[in-house]
Amino acid sequence: MAVRVKVVRRPELTFWEKLYIPQILCGLKITTRHFFRNLFLHIAHRLGRFVHLPASVTVQYPEELRPLMSRFRSRHRLTVRDDGTPRCVGCMLCETVCPARCITIVPGEHPDPSVEKYPVRFDIDLGICVYCGYCVEVCPEDAIRMDTGILDLAAYSREGMRLDIHELMDPELRKPINDCSLNFPHQCKPTGGQMKGSWDQVNTSRGGL
Ligand code: SF4
Ligand code: SF4
Repeated sequence: MAVRVKVVRRPELTFWEKLYIPQILCGLKITTRHFFRNLFLHIAHRLGRFVHLPASVTVQYPEELRPLMSRFRSRHRLTVRDDGTPRCVGCMLCETVCPARCITIVPGEHPDPSVEKYPVRFDIDLGICVYCGYCVEVCPEDAIRMDTGILDLAAYSREGMRLDIHELMDPELRKPINDCSLNFPHQCKPTGGQMKGSWDQVNTSRGGL
């Protein structure tokens, strides 16, 4: 079958467009009009006049944050049980459903037979996460949420965008993380990926199972 190709030619710029100066003046005219309109309206609002006409307001981000909608999806967190261990039962549903494949979970056996498993390791690479929220929707344990309200996710490296279990369980934590306060067995970056913590410590902290 013959393939038909339609050639679209880029329109030639006119003489006035090539000068650019008329377009720059046009832009300046619009900016100046908005400036004086907002200046006039802000002064008029102070005097109680023209209050039905809204004036533009600049939000001084990041010092000032706009209120977030309750359904807004911000940085992830793992919810925590009373004894400080994650609610996650390592079912892998979130890792399976994630379209960006940015969740990595290593499940381990939980000493409590009523708890299926728990995450020895839980990483989310925010550098490739698309914030779809599927991981939150699919979780049967309400163990992962996107309600931290944290929007500033910039990092100096790709590694810096990868949240591990420490940052997910405590959204206040920021890299570099040098100390670990998690007392259940988990793969711990501060120890170079070695296992750290024990269930005995958890049992002691809550007065035994
Ligand atoms: S929000 Fe979507 S892309 Fe991001 S970790 Fe969850 S499932 Fe994956
Ligand atoms: S879906 Fe929920 S319980 Fe299952 S592995 Fe993910 S966070 Fe854990």
